[in-house]
Amino acid sequence: MSQMVGAPGAVRATGAEVVLAQLDDEQRAAASAVSGPVCILAGAGTGKTRTITHRIAYGVHTGAFVPEQVLAVTFTARAAGELRTRLGGLGVGGVQARTFHAAAMRQLRYFAPQVLGGPMPGLVENKLRLVASAASRARLTTDRTSLRDLAGEIEWAKTTLATPEDYPARARAAGREPPFEAPAVAQVYASYESAKQRDGVLDFEDLLLVTAFAIEEHAPVARQIRAQYRHFVVDEYQDVNPLQQRLLDAWLGGRADVCVVGDPNQTIYSFTGADPDYLLGFADRYPDAEVVKLERDYRSTPQVVALANKLIGQAPPRKGLPGLRLLGQRAEGPAPRFFEHPDEPTEAAAVAQACRALVEAGTPASEIAVLFRINAQSEVYENALSAAGVPYVLRGGERFFERPEVREAVLLLRGAAAGGSEPGALVPTVRDVLASTGWVEHRPPPGGAARDRWQSLAALVDLAVDLVAEDPTIDLPGFVTHLAARADAQHAPTVQGVTLASMHAAKGLEWDAVFVVGLVDGVLPIAQSLSRPEAVEEERRLLYVAVTRAREHLTLSWSLARNPGGRRSRPRSRFLTGLVPESAPTAAPAARRQKRAKVVLEGEAGELFERLRAWRSATAQAASVPAYVVLTDATLQAIAESRPGTLRELAALPGIGARKLELYGEDVLATVSA
Ligand code: ATP
Ligand code: MG
Repeated sequence: MSQMVGAPGAVRATGAEVVLAQLDDEQRAAASAVSGPVCILAGAGTGKTRTITHRIAYGVHTGAFVPEQVLAVTFTARAAGELRTRLGGLGVGGVQARTFHAAAMRQLRYFAPQVLGGPMPGLVENKLRLVASAASRARLTTDRTSLRDLAGEIEWAKTTLATPEDYPARARAAGREPPFEAPAVAQVYASYESAKQRDGVLDFEDLLLVTAFAIEEHAPVARQIRAQYRHFVVDEYQDVNPLQQRLLDAWLGGRADVCVVGDPNQTIYSFTGADPDYLLGFADRYPDAEVVKLERDYRSTPQVVALANKLIGQAPPRKGLPGLRLLGQRAEGPAPRFFEHPDEPTEAAAVAQACRALVEAGTPASEIAVLFRINAQSEVYENALSAAGVPYVLRGGERFFERPEVREAVLLLRGAAAGGSEPGALVPTVRDVLASTGWVEHRPPPGGAARDRWQSLAALVDLAVDLVAEDPTIDLPGFVTHLAARADAQHAPTVQGVTLASMHAAKGLEWDAVFVVGLVDGVLPIAQSLSRPEAVEEERRLLYVAVTRAREHLTLSWSLARNPGGRRSRPRSRFLTGLVPESAPTAAPAARRQKRAKVVLEGEAGELFERLRAWRSATAQAASVPAYVVLTDATLQAIAESRPGTLRELAALPGIGARKLELYGEDVLATVSA
């Protein structure tokens, strides 16, 4: 504890005081409780992540923590990078800040010879392939969608610690909707497990399970791990799943030096097994826990905070959930804006123009984000931003240091470094080396993969420029060493550009301006969630996560049709009701309601067929392709006769492959149900 600060600590205590001075009273109470269990239960932007990083810094500065004995875990590589950056900013090095997976991987690699009797096994690169063969052994006929769903069920079972035998009963109790009968799924699961065992490989879930097992079953491993790590911190704890909790318990081994922080309103992974009850029940498990609630939102303007409060206030009350209303602390800002557009390209163009206007008015592009529900929505925004001349970066794509162009560049730089280098010439040298791959600095390609490649290499140059600014003596070998360390830590350099990210990938992050786009029912809430009220609520929380990323400017938009000329039949997201002010454009013209009534009345396959044809010809025209390229008459007929209500039902029809499903599925369903 802080009293332990002895004579040599007197100097360090000054650092500790500085660290605490940057917090408010409640945050300080949590940060200065450096021993024993601590739980921070608080809403978005209230400084949870700030409090844990300051708590670690305080513990280190007072001598209560040895940095190497602190393990901070979170859920995405990017969030772990954010923790490291913030700790670095507080002058704290040596603390492990990792994802659960990265931490488990590192430990298992070390202990593999001891517990597995050999080197670290290989990892399953592509689960779908193994699931596909397991499914065919079980004589199931699958397509891409049902395979993905099968893999999802296996992952859910494993993260909730259900064996194949447990699966049917557990799936039923949890209200899962597996793509096949539960016993068949269990059979695929069992067969998948034995195939993995036969090949001697582990999947991501095994990594955690085997690590937990190694600690639970091998006393020497447990001793070593527990001697190494003495203080645990978990950010975003609302999204912990039973498998991760089991690993955390194994690390702790009955000790209570654990600090968890989270926001139950930001639980967005319960579909994959996360359980906010670990967060909500923390104080019951640790009755002497220091429990801190934070309410002041330091991130967002009162306008953004009011919208977030309203949105989450419309959710039905959940048992055991404390009300977490946010109190905006920042100065007033612009009111959130809402826009309805006729189609997606128009929506994207408007967003791109707004981004451009912000950049021209002085907001750095890296302080702007466009957030969408599914990754497939990003392409139209990539095109629009390129057309508007606004640089952008995609988040949640391939890891930076694993991109082929980056690997190649790093190899070339390493080769060049071996030949020695002139001091003071780092940036031009890096440029020269990259130019040898055909990269031309002032000529970014207009879009697509080529642009991504160009941007990755530009980020390497920017990084060199930043490093030289910090340390003018850095040379090429120094740069190469730095890159290797970063690659180890999976910490991509920041690229100057508007961030395009899924709402899931945006968790924990913040920007000055945020555009939340594509807000139509069937996308948010996503179509697959509509049959289950809890799943719809998870979608609401996802929107809550998205809007609370904005510091100042928040824009929400949707478009009535997907393609230009398409039927303007998509209702805006149900979550916007009550948020959109009366004066804003609304999306439900009377004409549409009439049409809906008419179809219900007639209800004939022939009538639907004609409407599908009309939709098809508009879609084909917009894409400048012949109509049959969109869908054939036979497929339209099958749709008209069977009237599919879900993507899965649609996928079962002849002529609907994965690509057609992705391109037209939502539109076809909207046409059918209109
Ligand atoms: P989320 O739930 O979205 O992860 P969070 O609770 O982790 O949010 P932080 O990211 O830690 O919130 O903080 C939000 C913003 O507010 C950050 O920019 C942070 O630096 C700032 N902030 C937090 N607490 C304070 C404070 N006491 N004084 C000034 N700024 C603060
Ligand atoms: Mg946070």
